Amino acid sequence: MNNNIMKFAVDSDVKGILKKIGSYENIVAGKIECTICQQLLTLQNLQIIYKNKENDYSFVCDNPYCIEQYLESKKDI
Ligand SMILES: [Zn+2]
Repeated sequence: MNNNIMKFAVDSDVKGILKKIGSYENIVAGKIECTICQQLLTLQNLQIIYKNKENDYSFVCDNPYCIEQYLESKKDI
C-alpha cells in the first residue's frame, strides 16, 4: 500500500520538515513545482517529499495522478 509515503506529509510536521531541508521559504514563495505536473506547490497541496537521484529533494502534489506516477517511478529504482 501507499500509506507509508502519503503519511509522510500528512501526519508529520510538514513545515518543520520543509524548514529543516531549507525549502519552506521556497514553498511559501511559490517557487517549487510538483516534479510530475509542474503545478506550483503550496503547504496545502504538497503531498510527498523525497530525495531524488541527485540527492536533492523533490516534491509531488496531492494529485492522484502524480502520486501514481511517483510510485511507478520508484519501482524502477
Ligand atoms: Zn502534480
